[in-house]
Amino acid sequence: MAKKVVKKAAVAKAKSAAKTKQVKVKAKLAPAKPPVARKGFNKTELAYFKKIIIEKRKEILDELETLKASMMDVQTGEYVTENSTYSLHMEQGTDTMEREKTFLFASREGKFLNYLDDALKRIEKGDYGFCLDCGSLIDKERLEAVPHAQLCIKCKLKRGK
Ligand SMILES: [Zn+2]
Repeated sequence: MAKKVVKKAAVAKAKSAAKTKQVKVKAKLAPAKPPVARKGFNKTELAYFKKIIIEKRKEILDELETLKASMMDVQTGEYVTENSTYSLHMEQGTDTMEREKTFLFASREGKFLNYLDDALKRIEKGDYGFCLDCGSLIDKERLEAVPHAQLCIKCKLKRGK
């Protein structure tokens, strides 16, 4: 008889222990916030930005092609300005300067091309449009003008200071 009582008590104790454990787990989970998924641009918007980026890329590639052609003109020693028909034999110094300018421009365009490629990668990865500094979504208007932007306008201004 006494044994039975002890057993019952033990079971009750175990049950209550289990209950306490459950409560504890619940209490532990409660304060944890659910993970906040960053809400980016939707598929339609991303496709739209992708189109802008690809078009800009094409523009630059065309410009670089034109540059290559104009560099070849410089090499022949003939320089034709945009709005006139005269050509002249450049002096050695000027010729070098012109070529340097062209190279500088070409490398700047090349960098821009890299930025655009990176932006395309970010679209694929799904993290396009987020500000690198504050994590908020960059304004659509800004991305339309500067599709490779990685900073929101606020952070861009802050960095510029
Ligand atoms: Zn920002």
